[in-house]
This record gives sequence, C-alpha cells and structure tokens, in this order.
Amino acid sequence: MGSGQVSTPDWQGKKVTVAGLGVSGIPAARVLHGLGADVTVVNDGDDERSRAQAAQLEAEGITVRLGDGATLPSGTELIVTTPGWQPDKPLFAAAAEAGVEVWGDVELAWRLRGLDGREPAPWLAVTGTNGKTTTVRMLASILEAAGLRTAAVGNIGVSLLDAVLGEETYDVLAVELSSYQLHWSPSLRAHSAAVLNLAPDHLDWHGSMAAYAADKGRIYEGNKVACVYNAADPATEDLVREADVEEGCRAIGFTLGTPGPSQLGVVDDILVDRAFVENRQKQAQELAQISDINPPAPHNIANALAAAALARAFGVEATAVRDGLRAFRPDAHRIEHVENIDGVAYVDDSKATNTHAAEASLAAYEPIVWIAGGLAKGATFDATVEKAAKRLRGVVLIGQDRALIAEALARHAPEVPVVDLDRTDTGAMSAAVQEAARLARPGDTVLLAPACASMDMFTNYNKRGEAFAEAVRALAAARD
Ligand code: ADP
Repeated sequence: MGSGQVSTPDWQGKKVTVAGLGVSGIPAARVLHGLGADVTVVNDGDDERSRAQAAQLEAEGITVRLGDGATLPSGTELIVTTPGWQPDKPLFAAAAEAGVEVWGDVELAWRLRGLDGREPAPWLAVTGTNGKTTTVRMLASILEAAGLRTAAVGNIGVSLLDAVLGEETYDVLAVELSSYQLHWSPSLRAHSAAVLNLAPDHLDWHGSMAAYAADKGRIYEGNKVACVYNAADPATEDLVREADVEEGCRAIGFTLGTPGPSQLGVVDDILVDRAFVENRQKQAQELAQISDINPPAPHNIANALAAAALARAFGVEATAVRDGLRAFRPDAHRIEHVENIDGVAYVDDSKATNTHAAEASLAAYEPIVWIAGGLAKGATFDATVEKAAKRLRGVVLIGQDRALIAEALARHAPEVPVVDLDRTDTGAMSAAVQEAARLARPGDTVLLAPACASMDMFTNYNKRGEAFAEAVRALAAARD
C-alpha cells in the first residue's frame, strides 16, 4: 500500500471482521490493520493454502479464524466482506441481528477515499452482464487521450483500494463493478455510471432476476451528471427511472441506430453525440468512425458508445473519444482474430462464457463455423441457436454439457451439420479446430464462442482460448 495511508481516530481499535481470505480479503485486512483497526479475518476453508496465508497475516498482527466463516466474532462493529460471499450466509444473518453493517471491498475503498487529505478522484462506473471490461478499458483509453490521469480499476487490473490509497494521484477513475460488488456497496455515489445490458446471470447468488437487476441498478444511486443506459435494453432504462440521483443528473441513452435528443448513436458509420451538445434538439457532434473501433462488431460499437457517453459526461472533447478508441486494444480472448487460413478467419471469443455473450459474437459474423460447449451453468440454448441458425455453416461441440446445445440445434437448426466431439483430453481443442476447418469454406469465420464456462476441460477461459489459438497456429503451420 502506498505512503498515503494514515491512521485515523475513527479506525483506532475498531473491531472489524473481514469475511474471506483471498484476493480482496487479504488486502482489506492489511489496510484496516494499518489504519489501527482491530482486525479478525474469518474463513470457511482450512486448507494448506489458507493456513499459509493465515500464518503470514498473524505474523503481521491480524487475527485469523479458519474453518468457521459462519459465527460472528463477539464485539464486531463492522464486517468487510469478499464480494463473492453470498448474502444468505449465516454470518450476515448474525450481523443483521446484531445491527452490524456489512461493506464489500468497493464500499471500503469508497469510504477511504480522501483519507490522506488528497482530493478524491471521481468515479465513472460501469456494470452490465457483458462488456464491462471492454467498456472500462475503452473509457480509460479515451480519458488518457484527453490528457487525464486515470486508470481502469475495480473488477479488473488495479484494485480499488490500491487506486484510492496508493501513491498515484488520479483525476478520474474508470471503475468496473460486478453485481456482487454493487450488492455490498450501500453508499457508493459515482459521478456517472452505465449499465450496459441485463441478462440472467449469477441468479443462484442473487436469488432472483429482480434481485440481480436491483443490485446492478445500485450503480445509478446518487449519480451526479449522467445515468447511461442501453436504449435497446429497456430493463437498463427502468433502472435509471428507479434510481435516486442528484438534482440535474441526466438519463443518457446509447443506441446502434440514429440517436434522439440526449442519446449517443450511429449515423452513416459515424458515432454521434446528441446529448452533450449545446442544442440537442438540432445539433449532433461527430465523435468517431465505426472503423475506429476495434473490433467493429455491433456489441462492441455499443460498448464504445457507452464509454464515450461516460467520457463526454466528464467533459471530454470529441477528438479524445476518437483518439482513445483508436488506441484501444481489446483484452485477450475477446473476439480476438487469430489467423486467416485458406480464406477462413479464426476468431477466439473464449470469454463468451454465457449465452448472452455468445449471441453477441454470433451476430457479428456470417457464415460461421461455431465451436461451442463446456459447462452450461444451468443455461438453456434454444434462443441462442434460434437467433444464430441462419448464420451457421456448421457446429463443433465440445465439453461436458454439449448435449444441451446439440438438442437445441436439432430443434432449431436441423439442417446444420454438427460434429459432436466426445473428448476432454488436452488434444480435444486441436481436434475441434481441425473439424471446424473441414466444415468451413473460404469467406467463413470459425468462431470459438462457447456460451459455457471452461472448467470442465480447462483451468479457465484464458487457457481455453490459448488452446484454440495454438491449435489454429498449428493448422496454419501444417498448411505452409
Ligand atoms: P465482462 O467484463 O462483462 O465479462 P468483457 O468485456 O470481458 O465483459 O466481454 C466478455 C464477453 O462478452 C466478450 O467476449 C463478448 O463475447 C461479450 N460481449 C462484450 N460486450 C458485449 C455487449 N455489449 N453485449 C453482449 N455481449 C458482449
């Protein structure tokens, strides 16, 4: 942690329970201890790894209780939880009973802003079921192009605690927030915020779609300048309507069509702003060309418009939007073009781990040889297959739940050839790529957009994407 950290009377001796070791729990415990709080970390697990982490923290003067994350340590005045802990855990019931507040890691960072006397940087916040990381990185790139000191933080890269307490001084932060983090952030108030889209995800954690939407909607609470919503996804606009915002804060829509007043949209391949101009009834400001967006797939144009809306809400010039989008490079495994072989493009969208994401990339290409499958996480595939059916040249299915996709294909795209790969060994992806190459014709795209999680065959989606890219490169080398 940076030198900016200071101890304050507010925290001195305060009994704080940190729920969960791990990526957010350990830094939170250290920061709170550094502030003078009396910290106890509780953790469900009691394995070798947590014992090693506990020993390290204990050596620093932090109490750790392993193997019992359910009981509230006596005298607890505040709980700081790892965002992943589900709200129905007994620890939180005990906290509610005792009138103890629960904060997530984001709430903690929010409360510690300005503690060292520096003027806190405003937050431009982004959530949504899909596209968060891409949009936040685009936003940071635009803010940088405008000459602002900024960073992409939160659910990606730099932790919020580091951003708030570290040595670096920022003018503004581009903040990615997950629904879990929002659930545990009662007092967060962003300068402006965007909800990109809303599709069922993580419902086991939130309990219902309504609860999931409500947690996403928290991002708009108390916004000062703009609540940015997706005009094509009315649920996001509903959340704006329900939010309590500061006086004068505006609802700003983004659309892939022609924008109305107070919207950003697209006219003749140009991104235009009809929101942050002097006369929005009559005027529109050109921001960038679609060709400035990398890659220019429809959902990514939507992400760029959302990023542009937040940047414009912060007062950024149109030229910086263009320069920032041009400078932006997508993270790996997000619609990443790997190779062209025999006139066929091979695209890695391993990050499409749910159907909503896969639908977006399937809509961006035609004709497609689709590589799909893995762990379905309770999803159904009828709608996805129905939407994509006409674009499919063929399908190669991999992974544990591939039968679910095969059944949806049989129902909605019976004429599309399907290769069902009954293999989960390390060479399976290479076989999948070879089968896809066999099905593809010049001009087609072979698209890895699994619509499923990867953990049945791979450590994570990165490894799945790497296996795909490796197999494609091997295929290219064999052709040379
Ligand atoms: P997140 O951080 O929300 O997981 P990413 O930017 O990492 O989002 O993108 C994850 C995947 O979601 C991408 O690989 C792509 O398939 C899909 N995606 C990206 N943007 C959108 C969008 N606006 N709408 C639907 N799907 C999207």
